[in-house]
Amino acid sequence: MSFDPTSLSNLVLMLTAWGGAFLAALWLSLVIWTYRDIRNRARDPLARILATLVVAVLFLPGIVIYLILRPPRTLDEEYQQTLEEEALLQSIEESNLCPGCGRKIRETWMVCPSCNTRLKKPCHQCGKLMELAWNICPFCGTPAPGMRKEGLTLDEALKPIPAIENENTEESAF
Ligand SMILES: [Zn+2]
Ligand SMILES: [Zn+2]
Repeated sequence: MSFDPTSLSNLVLMLTAWGGAFLAALWLSLVIWTYRDIRNRARDPLARILATLVVAVLFLPGIVIYLILRPPRTLDEEYQQTLEEEALLQSIEESNLCPGCGRKIRETWMVCPSCNTRLKKPCHQCGKLMELAWNICPFCGTPAPGMRKEGLTLDEALKPIPAIENENTEESAF
């Protein structure tokens, strides 16, 4: 078998061409990958261009820099996180606490069993529980009676408060 320098140089040339093509393909795919990745992580168009440019110019060291500096979470992950945080916050807000002792109370309780604080009032018409601040029953539309007057009829509850009438007569007397 004779040694042929021409075929050796051909082989080297082929390997170089193959290596060059491989590197070019690698460079292109890394640039495309970076562009896709930064698109999922940053809304800012400048950040997208910069990240892609860093990889395009610096190639392999560029991809290392990009992997170090890229936003840790994708936009989708960030969105999911916000949703989770909101749900958590809502569940904290919804879990009722007694204004008197701070213990957990249920929506259906009228009085806190731990400290006897009044939490709800029953509608005198339909008996359903109402918030203390409500002036009208949301279930049957009956106006809530004043604190001292329990068991009023609808007509009585709709009448103007006598104290105001007295004030008016006093004023007209002056
Ligand atoms: Zn309590
Ligand atoms: Zn009612």
